[in-house]
Amino acid sequence: MANNGYTTILCPRCKVPMDYLSETEKSISGNRRVTKITRYYKCPVCGRRILDEVLTIKNNGDGIIIESHTNGARKILKRQVMV
Ligand SMILES: [Zn+2]
Repeated sequence: MANNGYTTILCPRCKVPMDYLSETEKSISGNRRVTKITRYYKCPVCGRRILDEVLTIKNNGDGIIIESHTNGARKILKRQVMV
């Protein structure tokens, strides 16, 4: 089986390889544009989801903040301020 650069996870219930998917959600709150990228594993048989990572990109007009949430831990990857 080809390795696509990510770990294959088996569904805890069905023991079949889960698909790796990502969803992008865009929203605007106030003058902020927020892009939320959710990456997760989904079982093609039972539809069970296992969350892998959530990336939040916030753009408030004069800076971009990228936050990563993995297994409940939150870290700021990048804080870029435009001059
Ligand atoms: Zn399953």
